[in-house]
Amino acid sequence: PASLVHIPKPSSVHTEPLHVPSKTLMGPGPSTAHPRVLQAAKLPLLGHLHGEFVKIMIEVQEQLRYAFQTTSKYVLAVSGTGHAAMEAAVANFVEPGDVVLVGVNGIWGERMADLVERYAGVVVRLEKPGGQVFHPDEVERELAANPEIGLVFLTHGESSTGTLQPIEGMGDACKRHGALFFLDTVCTLGCVPFNVDKHGVDITYSGSQKCLGAPPGASPLMVSSAAMAKLKQRKTKPFTYYFDLNLLGEYWGFEDNPRWYHHTGMVTNMYTLREALSILQDEGLAEAWTRHREAAERLWSGLERMGLELFVENPEDRLPTVTTVKVPEGVNWKDVASHMMHKHKIEISGGLGPTAGKVFRIGIMGYNAGPQQVNRLLSALKEALDLYGQPKG
Ligand code: PMP
Repeated sequence: PASLVHIPKPSSVHTEPLHVPSKTLMGPGPSTAHPRVLQAAKLPLLGHLHGEFVKIMIEVQEQLRYAFQTTSKYVLAVSGTGHAAMEAAVANFVEPGDVVLVGVNGIWGERMADLVERYAGVVVRLEKPGGQVFHPDEVERELAANPEIGLVFLTHGESSTGTLQPIEGMGDACKRHGALFFLDTVCTLGCVPFNVDKHGVDITYSGSQKCLGAPPGASPLMVSSAAMAKLKQRKTKPFTYYFDLNLLGEYWGFEDNPRWYHHTGMVTNMYTLREALSILQDEGLAEAWTRHREAAERLWSGLERMGLELFVENPEDRLPTVTTVKVPEGVNWKDVASHMMHKHKIEISGGLGPTAGKVFRIGIMGYNAGPQQVNRLLSALKEALDLYGQPKG
């Protein structure tokens, strides 16, 4: 058999146990994981259909109902990052020819429009410049003008621009026109106030590595019974096996059925998601919302005291979890970010999509949403700006 080995061992890779540096992740994500969550990653593997593991899945579903504030039966964690849950939602709820209204005010709306088209849906774009949000009457106007729209997509926390999309009244507007309300909550679940049932959200997906402070890889997805009824009426099977919600529902026990093998569940990621949701449960949802709000306000006032200007003009539209702040003229954002990384091991990032090159993006999420962490970030940023250029006062 040795004669089959033609490719030599990779001499550039050292095989002693892996070490990575410890960094404070204050970009748009992933955020620093909670130490208790990382402990859970060390637990022994279970089989993905073992009784103990199924119990963990059921507990995660209960905990997600609390985090989303929903009584819906149809809650699960998709194997994969936020994009996996995003794609799962589109693959199941968009049939060829379905008309979808997509709010585009940053890259998440752009990506959603792309995804919908890949599944042969028809996109109606509702556009706003980055930094602005949509109002329910604008959505309602589109719905009234185009009765074919069956799905309305908005991004609750637009991490490329730093906006918080108000959702009060959106679900009602959708319902009045027979459309389902589809919301991205990747940057808001567990840190920004919302209530899926009260706000009439029919489909929402999130991520584990932002506000929940878990590693990326198990992504919450919730579907209302109205959306599930639409799924049952599809003319074609979803064009995906891995993300088929009927099949996933059998693995996740949607109909109280015995669970059977669809794919190998993400055992370790389920432990870490459960641990993160337990931390949220211990703290309390409302308390976690308040902690994030207070951390964001501390950050915003610190930035303004330094003479910096926030990108989102209307304070009410600012996303507490990912802040966009204008890069002062004459400053190269990369110099500042790399100083913070090399000297302080703090990650912040630059802009994306409509904000590329114009802003720093600072994420204050999960484990990092506390006064000491924000103060540390502010002093490291001030030091970097003093070195690499003075903001205009
Ligand atoms: N939506 C939003 C608002 C996000 O911020 C992100 C992650 N940056 C995603 C979706 C995609 O998530 P992931 O990178 O985990 O696939």
